[in-house]
Amino acid sequence: MKRPHGIVVASKNPDKIAEVEAVLSLLDPPIEIITGHQWDDVEEVGSTLQANALLKAHAVATATGHAAIADDTGLEVDALSGEPGVRTARYAGEDATYHDNVTQLLFDMTGAENRKAQFRTAVALVLPSGDELVVEGVLEGEITTERRGDGGFGYDPVFEVGSRTLAEIPTDEKNRISHRALALHELAEMLSV
Ligand code: IMP
Repeated sequence: MKRPHGIVVASKNPDKIAEVEAVLSLLDPPIEIITGHQWDDVEEVGSTLQANALLKAHAVATATGHAAIADDTGLEVDALSGEPGVRTARYAGEDATYHDNVTQLLFDMTGAENRKAQFRTAVALVLPSGDELVVEGVLEGEITTERRGDGGFGYDPVFEVGSRTLAEIPTDEKNRISHRALALHELAEMLSV
């Protein structure tokens, strides 16, 4: 697939848009982010991360007439048999906040010795022609027993990589190592200039 000149980020989550923008701006040549478009919310009804990423990217490419990139992320926890996975955003209920979800996770992990987990992100790129590409990035880590750090978003304060949580890792470093960054770099490599 040929690299589009500009891309709409199919997300209304400012934390995510900022991360996608930061990674794409580091590419050589950088991919321009097109802003200012509106679209109706897309329900994440797919049963996999890849299906949800494709759903969102197709809807936004159709609504805007531009190439659209969408991601869907799941946290897979070994001690919870890979849960919450595709339900990560709604772990503590339909309208759960980041704080609610982290509280629920720490509660469900009480006493768990195996704290291994991974973030998995599917990133989909869809062109106005309907051509599509989807890739995944994975970041392995461990769930801590309490929150640490002020950076990042979502489950970052309880997801430890090495000795630091993602919320303790500076933003530019997170944007080099994260599941989302890995997927975006792989996607960029698959596009011809
Ligand atoms: P979404 O369905 O892709 O929007 O993401 C699912 C949930 O995963 C979000 O509500 C966040 O809580 C969480 N999440 C996504 N990406 C990250 C991340 O980079 N760090 C921590 N949590 C994340």
